[in-house]
Amino acid sequence: MSIYLDSNATTQVHPRVVEAMMPYLTDNWYNPSSGYRAGRGAKGAIEKAREQVASLIGASPEEIVFTGCGTESNNMALKSLARGMGRQNTKIVVSEIEHSAVLRPTEAMAAAGYEVEQVTTDGEGRLDLGAFEEAVSSKKPGFASIMWANNETGVVQPMLEVCQITKSAGWSVHTDAIQAVGKLPVRVDEVGVDFLSISGHKFHAPKGIGCLFIRKNSPFQPMIRGGGQEGGRRSGTQNVAYIVGLGEAAAIMGEEAANGGLDRVERLRNRLEDRLIARLGRETGFVQFNGSRDYRTGNVAHVSFSGCVAAEMLPMLDERGIQCSAGSACMTGKNQPSHVQKSMGLSDERAFSSLRLSLSIFSTEEEVDEAVDEIVEVVNICV
Ligand code: PLP
Repeated sequence: MSIYLDSNATTQVHPRVVEAMMPYLTDNWYNPSSGYRAGRGAKGAIEKAREQVASLIGASPEEIVFTGCGTESNNMALKSLARGMGRQNTKIVVSEIEHSAVLRPTEAMAAAGYEVEQVTTDGEGRLDLGAFEEAVSSKKPGFASIMWANNETGVVQPMLEVCQITKSAGWSVHTDAIQAVGKLPVRVDEVGVDFLSISGHKFHAPKGIGCLFIRKNSPFQPMIRGGGQEGGRRSGTQNVAYIVGLGEAAAIMGEEAANGGLDRVERLRNRLEDRLIARLGRETGFVQFNGSRDYRTGNVAHVSFSGCVAAEMLPMLDERGIQCSAGSACMTGKNQPSHVQKSMGLSDERAFSSLRLSLSIFSTEEEVDEAVDEIVEVVNICV
């Protein structure tokens, strides 16, 4: 038996995605830049995928650039913005809880002479908007990068307000929406971000495919130059099959959102939390959920078990077939809570006792109930 509760790490490739991709790995293996019919067929498949992704987020197809992964999308946006503005007199504002795919490149920018400020979050893991406004309202021109939803806690950030604040300062704004797309409505026609990163493997496409939304007329400097594919914004012969897979996954997530599939995932997550509380919450505060209860993706439970140590629980859970993560992605070799938990102000004890349980459209009620049984047993041994 194995029960997968780690969908924020990656997701199972959807059978429909595999089916859509297969022809482009077998018979239709042509170069999409070739002018003859077979090449044009491959190009047509890419353009269909571009429309599918654009439709999921309310963009125009020309605003979508396919990339090799979410990390690349983040780097492309940030490096284009930084290079376009120059290191003299440019300020960059990010949140403290960004993924390393935003923190590491902006740290490198700080080392290269840009002014970079990391803004903290409140106790619920949401951006401190007052501090953000203050950081942005410096006299300097600049840009901000604020994630739409956090990968550890699932906490959703106030993107509308972030856009209002950055726009009134005349700044550009990028968002890492990698943990939001496919989990909640992400619409660039409603939220005025200039750049938005997507990664396929977080919503049932394969690993190694992503895209970047670049709003029409936003200045953009390519990070990868060459043959001019993707409108010159990301050169390199396109990975047709994976792009087709990303398009199909986007279509599936649109259908799931429309037909109640995402609500079902949220109900399962709530069932998981309710059952943990019912079975273990005998003493007040023994089971604690971390992060905002109101602003979060519907698929994540981030939960601490007082007195337990996640590092001890994880191998025991794995032994019993439960695949999940520690709520605190401990830095390798260092006994420290994650930067996300530190930013939220969690105690070390609470941080180290937490699990991240993340579901997907493939999760079932039976799996949730069985996982609760196993978690309860392990917690009772570890406490
Ligand atoms: N940003 C966030 C919030 C993520 O969760 C991840 C993946 O874990 C990434 C960026 C990196 O995406 P990829 O694995 O496609 O490079």
